[in-house]
Amino acid sequence: MDTKKLGFGLMRLPRTDPNDNTAIDLSCAKTMADTFLERGFTYFDTAWMYHGGASERAVRELLTSRHPRDSYTVATKLHPGFVKSKEDRDRIFNEQLERTGAGYFDYYLLHSMNAEYDTLFDTYDCYNWLVEKKRQGLVRHIGFSFHDTAEVLERVLSAHPEMEFVQLQLNYLDWDSEDVQSRLCYETARRHGKPVIVMEPVKGGTLANLPPAAETLLREIHPDWSPASWAVRFAAGLDGVFMVLSGMSNMEQLLDNTAYMADAAPLTEAELAALRQVVTILRADGAISCTGCGYCVDGCPQNIAIPRCFSLYNEDKRQDPDEQTDWTPPFSYYEILIKNNGKASDCIGCGLCKEVCPQHLDIPTLLGRVATRFEE
Ligand code: SF4
Ligand code: SF4
Repeated sequence: MDTKKLGFGLMRLPRTDPNDNTAIDLSCAKTMADTFLERGFTYFDTAWMYHGGASERAVRELLTSRHPRDSYTVATKLHPGFVKSKEDRDRIFNEQLERTGAGYFDYYLLHSMNAEYDTLFDTYDCYNWLVEKKRQGLVRHIGFSFHDTAEVLERVLSAHPEMEFVQLQLNYLDWDSEDVQSRLCYETARRHGKPVIVMEPVKGGTLANLPPAAETLLREIHPDWSPASWAVRFAAGLDGVFMVLSGMSNMEQLLDNTAYMADAAPLTEAELAALRQVVTILRADGAISCTGCGYCVDGCPQNIAIPRCFSLYNEDKRQDPDEQTDWTPPFSYYEILIKNNGKASDCIGCGLCKEVCPQHLDIPTLLGRVATRFEE
């Protein structure tokens, strides 16, 4: 396995203030980036909106001002939500160059592709625009990240053979999911001969924090493998996957990831069978499959911290409730959360969040479950 197959996702960097998404702890992040490079890994993935724009600016602090340009690769993206005219494409691109100081981008992606955004990218001629950026030497490789059905992926790839690679949400829990369609999308990309970058291999942390029964099952096979490492190994072992992104938030995760990815082999049939058992346990667990991307948050008129509500709900499901009161620690965190944010029950069902959720979650309904658990 290529030792450079692990990419550092710069969307969940450590923060100095947990309530401020833009407050990246640069001192800690620099040490993490340096360690990542020292261990022979080179790929860094950012985007226009990660950490409210601070992630791209961090690329300058972590990399371009401190390391030779040919010692790492930088990927960033154009999100359709910010493109309202053809002029916006260059305005954003030029600002990305300015923010990062990268000079050029090794990989540039049309972000969050789906059927609707494909139309928008066509309307603003983004495909040809991207080819031109490549011709000018400002971008080395062009592709897109994708969140829709395999049928839509087939259509986009057939219409745009110039796209060189595809970034897919791919993990062992979503592999046979009817909504995410990891396996079908992967097979479609490979049929078109496209190399695949994997995002969300641990599904926003869901596969790093397994219910006790699932973790025990995996620890019995490999006591020293973290649950997250099982998930990354699964994705990295697939043919045609040339990079697996992991959004690392602390040094412990980085040391774990870089250690096992130094010499990880594809999973055996027995190991894959264990993961299928974990899927069965997780499906029975009833957790909400939010990846914590945060795309839904800014547009919510009720200021509901949607991903944090869902993560507390999932956390609660994994706890042993107090026998007398049914109380678990996430109840306290929920109380703190709603001091500065709307409650789950404040949702007015406007649906703005659903329109942008890459996981196609029925957010208002799921917030109803959160409200029932934490507010009644
Ligand atoms: S449906 Fe509810 S959670 Fe979603 S944006 Fe509207 S108010 Fe916010
Ligand atoms: S609810 Fe959807 S859009 Fe919001 S953070 Fe979760 S996965 Fe992302």
